[in-house]
Amino acid sequence: MKGIYILIISLSKTMKIKVGAIGDINFAKGHYAYVGSAQNNLEKRVQRHMKKNKKLKWHIDYLTSDKSATVEKVLYKLALKSEECKTADILSQTEEGIKNFGCSDCKCQSHLFKLNKIDLNELLPSFSMYNPDKPGKYGLKENEKTKQLHKSRRMFCIKDNNLFIAKPNVAYSHAVWFEKEGWIKEDSTIMDKITRGMLGSEGNLYFCVGYDFKITKKAEKEFFNHILELTKKLNVSRDAKIYGGFIKGKPGEKWSPNKCYGTVQSLSTEDTEPTRKKRNVSK
Ligand SMILES: [Zn+2]
Repeated sequence: MKGIYILIISLSKTMKIKVGAIGDINFAKGHYAYVGSAQNNLEKRVQRHMKKNKKLKWHIDYLTSDKSATVEKVLYKLALKSEECKTADILSQTEEGIKNFGCSDCKCQSHLFKLNKIDLNELLPSFSMYNPDKPGKYGLKENEKTKQLHKSRRMFCIKDNNLFIAKPNVAYSHAVWFEKEGWIKEDSTIMDKITRGMLGSEGNLYFCVGYDFKITKKAEKEFFNHILELTKKLNVSRDAKIYGGFIKGKPGEKWSPNKCYGTVQSLSTEDTEPTRKKRNVSK
């Protein structure tokens, strides 16, 4: 599985550590967050970070191999490498970066941050907790609330102009679904290409695209081209509301949609009123 991860490392004492080409760095006792990307095997990479004895290859190895440092927890998300620096940028807004650490191949100031707060849920809600003791099917565990939320909805997506509907009662995300289908393996940018959505437990329809949960003209077009098929297959009520895009919230909580388009009744091309047939839904 491919993704972005954040190591939460605790350092039990203030100390100087020699970090490869950077040289000596004074680390204050406390917690640190390191942002990395593993576009091949995330599970294997995380295991490597947990080990004390390893060949010192990356800056982070100098810290994690020290006996005073412990990787306390790991957060992860299925995402492309481009998300790595975005994540580092988010952390840099509030947390203190260790200059030049872990960012030799990008333009960031740092990929390692001394944390003021350890709970990163609010700052980075799209990340889930990695639990090496209780691995899920992918060796990675989604938080329980997120699983319940996933189970209560019904996922769908539109790929190559075809509507796909996921099995009911599945606890995983769209990204995991696409991975199971083998689509992510075929094309790592697939999350930005497939319009995806869900029928919420309250009966409303939601759609979006990409890791940013956004609305694009293409996604709108694809969604509304398939709305008739979708509402029939999922037995969606005519009163159901249609929402596009999401504002990222906490994991396991319902996120606010960006835009409401109206009800299925008012938007469906099946509508018997001919004047409504031609209505431009993307306005
Ligand atoms: Zn970077």
